[in-house]
Amino acid sequence: MKRIVIIDGELCVGCGACVELCPNKILYIDQKSGKCKVSDESKCDRLRGCEKVCPVSAIKIV
Ligand code: SF4
Ligand code: SF4
Repeated sequence: MKRIVIIDGELCVGCGACVELCPNKILYIDQKSGKCKVSDESKCDRLRGCEKVCPVSAIKIV
């Protein structure tokens, strides 16, 4: 499957801003790593809200 939501685990600080914002609730903080992960990318609206809200530019919608 083609990737839509690319999250850079090195950059992510686990702040949760993108999780709060995502209208389709497909982003979550992985408890183990403390980093943001994506569940069902096919539900992404590609409007890039998460990309804009991330303070460290860890998310790219492609
Ligand atoms: S682009 Fe929108 S729907 Fe897709 S992951 Fe980001 S906030 Fe969620
Ligand atoms: S907004 Fe950025 S830094 Fe914060 S949890 Fe999401 S991807 Fe990680």
